[in-house]
Amino acid sequence: MKVRLVLVEPEGKINFGFILRLAKNFEVDEILAVKPKFDIRDEEVLRFAAQGKDYVSKVKVLEDYKSALMGLSICTSAKVSDADPVRSFVVPWELKEVFGEPEVLTLVFGRESVGLTREELALCDALLHVPASKRYPVLNLSHAVAIVLWEVWKQYRLERGKLPERPSGEEVGLVMEVLEELAKRFVRDEVKRDRLLISLRRLVSKGTKQEVRSLLYVLGKCLKR
Ligand code: SAH
Repeated sequence: MKVRLVLVEPEGKINFGFILRLAKNFEVDEILAVKPKFDIRDEEVLRFAAQGKDYVSKVKVLEDYKSALMGLSICTSAKVSDADPVRSFVVPWELKEVFGEPEVLTLVFGRESVGLTREELALCDALLHVPASKRYPVLNLSHAVAIVLWEVWKQYRLERGKLPERPSGEEVGLVMEVLEELAKRFVRDEVKRDRLLISLRRLVSKGTKQEVRSLLYVLGKCLKR
């Protein structure tokens, strides 16, 4: 899936720098700036982009908003409503569940001052909202970009192999057998024992392979004693 980022009339150089850095952190394929309010190669932008500053060469500056939209286009906003079709929304953790994996995903972010206009929102296929405090749901632009890119990264791109290895069902079963044996010896009350074993199963299932093996090692020694 190709991920494209569209920034509509960005106003802040610091935010723009942070966004370039995020674009590199989360391997955004294309960045489009519609009528930016500053020179995108400004020294301040590059300073805040840190090692993401080379991503400035990926930025295409456009005059026309409509032509920036491609593939599945998703606008973002702090203002939502169930009653207004333009403002009906999805939440970030549902992206893959709702839309599957499109070939091209375009994420659209608005101006720091006034966000996206109704007309701009209406041209997107969907509206994405990060639910924050009802009292103050408006995030800083670069923070909103960070949350959304992280969700996309997590759902579509994170290499599962890099996560710690999980224990096999057999390993969990083995630990549970030993725990059951120990519980039988040391916990008389049967009801209490069953409840304890259920919560222990939950605990063991959350462990990594390495952690579960360590536990099994010590419990095995206990059992032998
Ligand atoms: N005063 C503006 C604030 C815009 S904040 C307004 O009322 O719309 C700048 C941009 O950050 C928004 O256009 C949107 O793209 C993003 N953003 C801010 N808060 C968000 C939230 N809670 N969920 C999704 N996007 C958000």
